[in-house]
Amino acid sequence: MKPTLKIYISGLYCGPNPSAGVGVARSLRLAYPDATLIGVDYSNRSSGIHSPDFDDVWIQQPWNKLDLDAYAATVRDRLEEESAYWISCLDLEILWMAQALGSYPRLLIPPREALNQIAKPAVPAHRGLPVEIPPFMSTIEDDWTLHTFGRRHGWRVWLKGPYYDAVRVNSWPAFMALRAALQSTWKTEKLFLQAHVRGLEESVSFSAYRGHLLDAIHMVKRDVTPEGKTWGGQILEPTADFLTPLREMVSALNWTGGAELEMIHDPAGEFWLMEMNPRFPAWIHGTTLAGRNLVGQLVEAASGVPMCQAQRQSDEFARIVLEMPVRSGYPVPPLQEPLHGSQQPSAKYPSGMPNLAHRLHQLQRLTRPVLAAEPAPVPASIPASFIEDILGVDLDHVQTPFHILLPRTALRSFSQLATTTLAASSAQCDVRAAYSIKTNPDERLVALARDTGFLAEAISEREVAKALEMGFAPGNVILNGPAKGWPSQVLAHPIHAIFCDSIEELRQVVQRASDGEDVAKIIGVRLHGPQLISRFGIPVSSHEAFNEMIKLLRALPQSVEIGCHFHIANSFFGVEQWWRLYESSLRCAKAIESCTNRTVACVDIGGGWFPDDFENDLVPKLGNAVAQAREALPGLRQFILEPGKAMVQHAMAVAVRVLEVRKHRGQPEEIVVDGSIAELPHASQYPHRILQKDHKTGQWQPMARGKARILGRLCMEDDILAPNVQLPEDIAEGKILAICDAGGYDSSMTYTFGRGNTHGL
Ligand SMILES: *Cc1c(COP(=O)(O)O)cnc(C)c1O
Repeated sequence: MKPTLKIYISGLYCGPNPSAGVGVARSLRLAYPDATLIGVDYSNRSSGIHSPDFDDVWIQQPWNKLDLDAYAATVRDRLEEESAYWISCLDLEILWMAQALGSYPRLLIPPREALNQIAKPAVPAHRGLPVEIPPFMSTIEDDWTLHTFGRRHGWRVWLKGPYYDAVRVNSWPAFMALRAALQSTWKTEKLFLQAHVRGLEESVSFSAYRGHLLDAIHMVKRDVTPEGKTWGGQILEPTADFLTPLREMVSALNWTGGAELEMIHDPAGEFWLMEMNPRFPAWIHGTTLAGRNLVGQLVEAASGVPMCQAQRQSDEFARIVLEMPVRSGYPVPPLQEPLHGSQQPSAKYPSGMPNLAHRLHQLQRLTRPVLAAEPAPVPASIPASFIEDILGVDLDHVQTPFHILLPRTALRSFSQLATTTLAASSAQCDVRAAYSIKTNPDERLVALARDTGFLAEAISEREVAKALEMGFAPGNVILNGPAKGWPSQVLAHPIHAIFCDSIEELRQVVQRASDGEDVAKIIGVRLHGPQLISRFGIPVSSHEAFNEMIKLLRALPQSVEIGCHFHIANSFFGVEQWWRLYESSLRCAKAIESCTNRTVACVDIGGGWFPDDFENDLVPKLGNAVAQAREALPGLRQFILEPGKAMVQHAMAVAVRVLEVRKHRGQPEEIVVDGSIAELPHASQYPHRILQKDHKTGQWQPMARGKARILGRLCMEDDILAPNVQLPEDIAEGKILAICDAGGYDSSMTYTFGRGNTHGL
């Protein structure tokens, strides 16, 4: 007679984001009522140790204290017993065991090579399965590139840890904060960003022994916790087009153990693989209740001992919270005083996974590429024209901090767009750019706009006056924004176009035009679409506002043309979403045409583009965008773009001088410079590329990401110009840095602060 089975099950945490240990034990209890089940964990805070399904528990030292070699020897000893098996429910423990114990016959985990094949986020093993991997990018990339990824996906992205942890990131400042937190938890820079996929969460869980698929089920989440963890689900049969390649994959990987493929099922019916875990999911007992005991089948295949057949009770499971008597000898330790009121990672991961991750990183001999060494960061490349332009300024004789205009860089952007708009123009439809004065009213830039044939886009009478002063004809000025009448009420000359921000303004402007005043050639409306979160424009999704707008536009004298302005901040919505919103805005303009029975003669698409996206996405598609507009609005005579930062953000840098170098063990850790957030108010809003002068060669070099900080001169907590740069060892007082990408709002919103004077009122 065979001795009774003794099965070790590790990973017993049973909070709202539980490990699978308790579910595995409950399923095994049904399959093998006489087996001895021993729960293993690394903290007495893992509440599953109190589950009555365990005959005994075996609590280890925490991972940071454990002697790993001795522990490996102990586990090996335990598994020497012929009837002893081990099912691990902890991803990192599995990684360590595959490394330290190898393919031990009764250790029911996948081989090391298979683990490499499921490493996040690429999951190489997924090839063959009818799933796709959402776009991702390693945070090893330079910040400029990471910011591009965020914009591309409209900041609907996730920041994920190498093994666990996923946090939604909705902006660059949020990314900076969350990256720092995750790096500190996991002691690695190797996190990754992944595009959000909309859809429902579904999983496939399977059980396999030595490359043979034993069983697989498909689970659809029916209820989730606020963290998105399963709180109820339905068990379905996987489809044949999934099962066949799954069987091949299991065989190719020579898989042993449980597994879960976590997926998103999108509205188009596609499956996106988020990750593949080398263990049973925490809800595994739900499948047993549906009559499919995947855990029992695994032990049966490994031991040859027949299991009790699972009884099908229901295809749906719910989770409930239960109070359990505490196991004698394992009192729940008292709570620790919360540190800074925040939850400690050890409380979030009672089985000590961050500690184990740290240990695994220290053991360099470990599995590759899962835990490959971290490559040195490479700085973002900087356009050659930045450096040429900076070399043209005598920085030794300027008072820093100093805004440097990069003349060739600026000229290139303005003339490139002038050429593009000219090429997109036709006899029927004129395509023009209008420079947004408020973005940077520097006269050299306004003059450049004028000389390259731009219109001027103003948001106040003051800015109109500035444009006129700078030599723009009134007929080349557009007035936009919510408070055009500031500071006076009456325009001296008819201008090219006015776009009204509200029904109230439209009523007033139509009245003036009806009274015979020559206000502007084009009178238009700024549209606020239903999808937009914005304080601007007429909310056209409201029937009342739309009807009122139509009534007013119908009252416009025939001598005035009608225009539509939509400003959808591309840097907020992301490139793809922008084009969808553009199309829906055109549909709205078309509705205005048919309701007013008048032609929409001008479309103006506003600004809000990040320079790189403007150049790489909008400029190449401009011809197409104009064609789309003309198709929707056959009477269209003019198409206007209003770029601000897309033209000038990269056209200025701020030169700052090092005031103090703070070292730790001889390495520069922080520098204080004479620039500050007063000269770079958007320092934390998006990455700024930084140039430093190499002392030996005199050349300007881009600065890479690192652990040092550039602090501003102001006695203010938030005056940090760069929180993570690599400083050259020989950086010294008096040296000059150029902080690039400061020609947009950094420049125009510069303020006087900490200089001992008040604003000149
Ligand atoms: C500010 C502004 C722009 C330019 O915006 P950027 O973000 O600098 O591109 C364009 N049009 C209007 C009406 C504006 O107010």
